[in-house]
Amino acid sequence: MPDRPVVVGGGIAGLVVAWELARAGRRPILFEAEPEVGGVVRGHTVGGLRLDAGAESFAVTRPAVGALVDELGLADEVVRPEPTGAWVRWAGGTAPLPVGGLLGVPGRPWAADVRRVVGVTGAVRACADLVLPRRVGRQGSGLGGLVRGRMGGRVVQRLVEPVAGGVYAADPDALEVATVTPALARPDVRSLALTIRKSAGSRPRPGSAVASLRGGMHRLSETLATAVRAAGGEITVGTVVRSVTHAVGTWTVTTDSGRVLRTDTLVLAVPGAVARDLLGPAAPADLSTTVATPPTPVRLVTLVLDDPQLDRAPRGTGVLVARSVTDVAAKAITHATVKWDWLARAVGPGRHVVRLSYGRDDDSGGRPADDDALIEVARLDTGTLLGLDLDARSLRASAVVGWPAALPVPRPGHQAAVRDLRAQLRSIGVLLVGGPAAGTGLGAVVADARAQARTLLDPAAAAGRHDRPTNVTDARDEGPAGRTPAAGRMNT
Ligand SMILES: Cc1cc2nc3c(=O)[nH]c(=O)nc-3n(C[C@H](O)[C@H](O)[C@H](O)COP(=O)(O)OP(=O)(O)OC[C@H]3O[C@@H](n4cnc5c(N)ncnc54)[C@H](O)[C@@H]3O)c2cc1C
Repeated sequence: MPDRPVVVGGGIAGLVVAWELARAGRRPILFEAEPEVGGVVRGHTVGGLRLDAGAESFAVTRPAVGALVDELGLADEVVRPEPTGAWVRWAGGTAPLPVGGLLGVPGRPWAADVRRVVGVTGAVRACADLVLPRRVGRQGSGLGGLVRGRMGGRVVQRLVEPVAGGVYAADPDALEVATVTPALARPDVRSLALTIRKSAGSRPRPGSAVASLRGGMHRLSETLATAVRAAGGEITVGTVVRSVTHAVGTWTVTTDSGRVLRTDTLVLAVPGAVARDLLGPAAPADLSTTVATPPTPVRLVTLVLDDPQLDRAPRGTGVLVARSVTDVAAKAITHATVKWDWLARAVGPGRHVVRLSYGRDDDSGGRPADDDALIEVARLDTGTLLGLDLDARSLRASAVVGWPAALPVPRPGHQAAVRDLRAQLRSIGVLLVGGPAAGTGLGAVVADARAQARTLLDPAAAAGRHDRPTNVTDARDEGPAGRTPAAGRMNT
């Protein structure tokens, strides 16, 4: 009987694990609820254009995605953003985002672009980071506490909060430093600025920290799915896993299409709350607090606009918005046709694509609830953020995509809690991967998924981590649900 691990969830994490397993000859079976693979890294069509529905770039500061792209033969498709840079807006001003920072933390606190945002007083305070003792800020809460202690509150409010708000939809104080900025968490770090400067290199340019693929990041998911299938894996889309039950060392997986499979290896690559609900009584007690606390729901609005005013890229690649701003509801806008040359060429002259994101941890996920009303808000926000008077007739097409659970917040203590949780899950044959465990961002999620997949393939390595090795054995198709008593929820 061939080994057939079952992977629930075909976002980037599930696909990466499936690919590692397939390449090792394990013939995984993956179920994805949506009609196409990718999760947040999937595409959609707006006004005849194939665009990213969620993630649109990856951080090059972490090597994992670049390595994966190379291995999949996509290296020639990697594109860098145009070096026009993004802007930041706070109550009282709008200015170019300082270059060479890390999640908004400046690498050169006295640079002119930093002074323009935080003022001379703010920059003087930020420079204290260069001389303060190592321990200062370490007792603070999360990334916000660390930066406030070393560089002052203005850097947090005007730089870290808008950038972290865009990436995590969370208060910087709630973000675990080791997860969101690992380089700053090392015990030998004395100055944040010096550490960032060292990793950014001597001549950082705007946008140099990220890259994407020509045609959009969703091509990564599509290419991975093709590679999984080519290596003997099975991917079934449009199929929801309804229940997983555990009895005498075997998991029984039941889908909404009536398929029932048995496996000794269950990979959960789904939002934390879905993992909790699927595992039911088999879920370790601390699963809820570790990976299933409610994330901030976000909504992404894409507008296709015809307006020649946009040709001059008034705010570069876009604007990140501080919480203190009250005249727009968006937390960020990306001027996608300025940022990505391939897209500008695809749409042709005079046509533009902008993406606005809504939803912070201190509101209800972007008001108003109605999509049409939100599109109108987005059009007005676009004008305000880009400093233009946009005519309603310039709107050619639009789309709203809701991501209710895609931005989990890695709170202080997260990594240690995940290690404990995973050890418990591994002892019952479950591997938990994806954003809820790894932290938000493709770099973190891909690196973690690959490392976790290898613990399945190399039980000795897993045992070396003092966890019971996972036994990858067979998944057997049991036929339609209901014909077997194992189809019911029988968690042990
Ligand atoms: C709007 C947005 C933009 C982002 N932009 C970027 C970016 O530009 N760069 C970056 O690095 N990061 C970005 N991120 C973060 C990054 O995309 C995520 O951290 C990462 O994609 C998470 O991948 P995942 O596989 O863990 O989860 P997901 O992508 O959420 O995948 C989980 C999958 O499980 C499926 N599923 C759920 N329940 C079931 C079930 N019962 N049965 C079967 N399938 C199920 C879902 O349909 C989904 O496809 C962004 C996030 C959001 C929300």
